[in-house]
Amino acid sequence: MKIVIVGGVAGGMSAATRLRRMDEQAEIVVLERDDYVSFANCGLPYHLGGEITRREALVLQTPKSLRDQFGIDVRTGNEVVAVHPGTHEVVVRERDSGREYTESYDRLILSTGAAAIRPPLPGIDHPRIRSLRNIPDMDGIAALLGDAQSAVVVGGGYIGLEMVEALRHRGIAVTLVEAADQIMTVLDREMTVPLLAELDRNDVRVLLSTTAKGFADDDGRVVVDLGDERLTTDLVILAVGVRPESSLAVAAGLAVSDRGAVIVDEHMRTSDPDIFAVGDSVQVTDTVTGNPVVVPLAGPANRQGRIAADAISGRPSSYTSTQGTGIVRVFGLTAAMTGATEAALTRAGRPFQKVYVHPNDHAGYFPGAVSIHLKVLFDPQDGRLLGAQAVGADGVDKRIDVLAVALRAGMTIEDLEHLELAYAPPFGSAKDAVNMAGFVGGNLLRGDVALWYAEQWPDLPSDAVVLDVRNADERNRWAIPDSTWIPLPELRDRLGELPPGAPIYAYCRSGFRSYLAQRILAQSGWPEAATLAGGELTFQAVLPAVAADRELASA
Ligand code: FAD
Repeated sequence: MKIVIVGGVAGGMSAATRLRRMDEQAEIVVLERDDYVSFANCGLPYHLGGEITRREALVLQTPKSLRDQFGIDVRTGNEVVAVHPGTHEVVVRERDSGREYTESYDRLILSTGAAAIRPPLPGIDHPRIRSLRNIPDMDGIAALLGDAQSAVVVGGGYIGLEMVEALRHRGIAVTLVEAADQIMTVLDREMTVPLLAELDRNDVRVLLSTTAKGFADDDGRVVVDLGDERLTTDLVILAVGVRPESSLAVAAGLAVSDRGAVIVDEHMRTSDPDIFAVGDSVQVTDTVTGNPVVVPLAGPANRQGRIAADAISGRPSSYTSTQGTGIVRVFGLTAAMTGATEAALTRAGRPFQKVYVHPNDHAGYFPGAVSIHLKVLFDPQDGRLLGAQAVGADGVDKRIDVLAVALRAGMTIEDLEHLELAYAPPFGSAKDAVNMAGFVGGNLLRGDVALWYAEQWPDLPSDAVVLDVRNADERNRWAIPDSTWIPLPELRDRLGELPPGAPIYAYCRSGFRSYLAQRILAQSGWPEAATLAGGELTFQAVLPAVAADRELASA
């Protein structure tokens, strides 16, 4: 059996090495158009930022080490320019000699990745406008960093934010330009508010709802046209997304989606039974919505490579779906997510319930405890988990990984109440952040707590009482406009001040004290009492303009 693999990085090399482990006799040829195989794309921003000091650390294998260790024929500088399914051949162009040759295959695996999107804007070909996909891209950017004082990063997704951080580590002044009204659109908008504050703390200028309309040259520097402003800068990093690199598949007549992603079955087999495709170039099924999606992440690419190898070796493993578990560091904060966002569920017309909690990452009495802002979405009928997002300075990765497993296992919000997670004061709490989300969500499903949400605030009924149960210091700092203030310890004695039976919308800092207030009220003649989900912390993230207006604080 001869297997030819196009693309020698995440998916391709996983497939190649797994194939060798499964079949010692197979002839395995990897064709890679660049000079490097098996390199750490995910590490590129961190080398540019100076945290990964050794460039060689990014190159995990070489053609020689792959030949020596795995007996794989790896040819760099060899681009596949055509696939002929009828004759089971690929046409290869050797970059250095310009020679073209054909290579036959019994099975072909395409792991051609994605290409950085470069919108056809005026001046886009300026030599100081760069994207980051591979080591040559990284070297090109590194060469420009020496004399750069300022940079504009266009696009506030994973790679854009990683590059913002890298450039600031290098002491370069950075402006981040994002077309949407939020950064990181894989998070819901309110969850990105702490990230914006962190960018501000690190002197990054962020321009939301702003598009780069074109570029021009100014004596070797780049002028970025933002419509109402022109920025002159030393370097532009374009990180506005990627598209599946599927031109070979398209030309070979393989089935592709509207968005140009290669369509595969659960064994990563394309519409041609002898051709497989994996990684950033393929369409997968969304774990939560069941919709076809393209999710360019390293974990799925590596696992798909392995599954294609298994299928070729006659093993029945299958790839079911991608849930989009991801994580990004933004200076001192981490943001991570798994499953669907509220925005995605709303777009898909899928009903959901949501809870917000802000517990400490570890026991509050142990030094260094910091809040984790956690949002969990679940099915309103059966409680099944639909998605989770977390932001904080510590412990975010652990919570999202727990929730990613729970979601994949089909667990419910109530199941989270019963998870037994590792605990000692430096690491967690006896009631972990994940348990806390379970308690709130479980209470909600069982009707033990009624929640109201910050986005309802502008439209509350006219007879509603917004009840602040916080203490005097908190009240003096800021309050929801026109709220009534009765601190929780005084509530039982002052119930007579509230209009009998009126809908009471209680709130506190994070939702716990107002839950206690709601329990008192619900049992004392106010059946419509509700507690603000996530409290003041979530309210301020959802309605930042109200939060910023200190004048609105009532006496
Ligand atoms: P790739 O790994 O990109 O490999 C495709 C290879 O195919 C390329 O080397 C290309 O040269 C080659 N190729 C294409 N066409 C041809 C052809 N015709 N002939 C020969 N060779 C060809 N994901 C995460 O989950 N976490 C992260 O932190 C993360 N960080 C990232 C940071 C950066 C800067 C980048 C660029 C990506 C990052 N990713 C991250 C995404 C992750 O790297 C990709 O999802 C993953 O590499 C996809 O694997 P792949 O095999 O599909 O494509």
